[in-house]
Amino acid sequence: MPTAISHQPAIRCRGVTKDYGTGNALVRALRGVDLELWPGELSLLVGPSGCGKTTLLSVIAGILDQSEGDVAVLGTDLGRLSNRQKVRFRGRHIGFVFQQFNLLPALSAVENVSVPLVLQGYRKRAAMARAEQVLKSMGMGDRLASLPGKLSGGQQQRVAIARALVHEPQVVVCDEPTSALDAKTGHVIMRLLRNVAMERERAVIVVTHDARVFEFGDRIARMEDGQIVEIQQQTPARGDEPATLTMKTA
Ligand code: ADP
Ligand code: MG
Repeated sequence: MPTAISHQPAIRCRGVTKDYGTGNALVRALRGVDLELWPGELSLLVGPSGCGKTTLLSVIAGILDQSEGDVAVLGTDLGRLSNRQKVRFRGRHIGFVFQQFNLLPALSAVENVSVPLVLQGYRKRAAMARAEQVLKSMGMGDRLASLPGKLSGGQQQRVAIARALVHEPQVVVCDEPTSALDAKTGHVIMRLLRNVAMERERAVIVVTHDARVFEFGDRIARMEDGQIVEIQQQTPARGDEPATLTMKTA
């Protein structure tokens, strides 16, 4: 399997279009997207509701097939993979974080985080040990046994991020990860995601229309009506309060 190196973009889109439906119901959700996103960076994909952010993220993550154009992730052209290969590629290289956390309510925090490893065939004990380690690195060591319903929104999102990272993916995609959170918690989560990008030269891609978090991106791609209209690089905000993330792994 190819791996990301810093002089190669983690994500490369060329002329990507996506149409939903046909005839009178045709929606041109993406209209020719060219985009490169880099390892070690937190990239923001921003723009008004309906401009195509979730569609683009889904295409990048191999959940949706584009109509035209090429998408390469970590140097692999997704269009050349069979559906089965794509599922495996996703499972190995991509982590997902959603607005509504999507945790399993009957499982504890540590069990939720262990799920991707169990699905990949890890033994329960090894999966739980690894999940515990990731949660501890996020300052969640005292909530391992808590059910999601007993956690705050910010804590639930930390669990969801831990779950996205537990299999060490090189690309992490997040769809509106702060929009269910208050401003302060949103900032903590964004700093955590920045650390996630820097720690292991991961590419972290955050879709958001939450202007309160724009300052945390290394790169901001602005979308309008299915196209990228501007790409801006900036030195992101650090913030004073560190969001924990120190992982010691083999
Ligand atoms: P955003 O995430 O920026 O709000 P989306 O990518 O969800 O935008 O949607 C882009 C456009 O595609 C919108 O016009 C939306 O209504 C349309 N769309 C999204 N998903 C579907 C779908 N499954 N079927 C038909 N149209 C869709
Ligand atoms: Mg969306």
